[in-house]
Amino acid sequence: MHISDILAATPTTLSFEFFPPKTAEASERLYDSIAQLEPYQPNFVSVTYGAGGGTREMTHDLVVRLKQTTALDPIPHLTCVCHQEGEIADILGRYAEVGVSNILALRGDPPSERGGYDRSQDAFQYAADLVKFIKRFNDSGAHPDRRGFGIGVAGFPEGHPLTPNRLVEMDHLKAKVDAGADYICTQLFFDNHDFYDFRERCDLAGIRIPIIAGIMPITTTNGMRRMAELSGGSVFPARLLKALQRAGTDPEAIRRVGIHYATEQCADLLNHKVAGIHFYTLNQSSATREIYASLGLKDSRALAPASA
Ligand code: FAD
Repeated sequence: MHISDILAATPTTLSFEFFPPKTAEASERLYDSIAQLEPYQPNFVSVTYGAGGGTREMTHDLVVRLKQTTALDPIPHLTCVCHQEGEIADILGRYAEVGVSNILALRGDPPSERGGYDRSQDAFQYAADLVKFIKRFNDSGAHPDRRGFGIGVAGFPEGHPLTPNRLVEMDHLKAKVDAGADYICTQLFFDNHDFYDFRERCDLAGIRIPIIAGIMPITTTNGMRRMAELSGGSVFPARLLKALQRAGTDPEAIRRVGIHYATEQCADLLNHKVAGIHFYTLNQSSATREIYASLGLKDSRALAPASA
């Protein structure tokens, strides 16, 4: 379903993110998680896109499998890194053919194995250029929906590390929106005030599209450290760190603290009428399921008006 229709049908979307598994064992774990999460009827699920190599085709394969074998509505991520125009057009064409309705358009992280990667080889330098290209694809009428693909872009409540000037950063975000984005999905954050402030700054910049909040429950300290690395500098509030410190080295206590903290974040976001909550599931289901239970939600449709 086009993201505009998804967002119009409910005051708050609830959605999940998966990444393509690299091994048979990881694949089995993922499909177990998907089977556990499908009954929660997420408004959509998204599938990440690797920096290069074989995992990229796996994004396509996972998206097609979700589309064809589940009731889930998958949104593939697509990045500018290591791509020429013809390749992007081919990927869009293949997604249009199988009825994928939306794309999350990103600049992408450079391949870790190619230190000093030269982005000037890529057809598109910034996500805004990719959004424009998808818009041109949409205008060509190659998608079965006359509106073409719905388009999402990334937002960074705590700021993107590559642009320390936060005023200029908002100009760049506005450029993606003006290029044709339909919604923003944010990087994970642990202090909701960062999200609310970001939302207000977007409003001041004239960005009026829905902003979906990215939430990742901490379940292990190693996971937290990896997260701090990957997200490019998340702020871990003292309140969270103190609770984790109280849990000491007990893995179950750490997990409970992390899930409780994320649940409180979600309850507060719902109270503040957030347009959507996107769970970074790490291909696991239990943390997300526990959060739904603590929020009193049977499934994602529980938030939609009765007639929807
Ligand atoms: P852009 O919007 O292009 O911005 C990148 C940087 O360039 C910013 O600092 C911006 O301020 C600056 N900039 C933008 N335009 C200009 C301009 N005209 N001139 C100068 N500077 C400019 N990465 C992956 O590889 N695969 C994924 O699947 C993936 N999924 C993600 C999902 C979400 C929800 C988020 C938040 C991030 C995801 N990422 C993913 C990470 C993302 O690709 C990186 O954080 C990347 O560095 C930024 O992507 P972007 O789309 O925001 O880029």
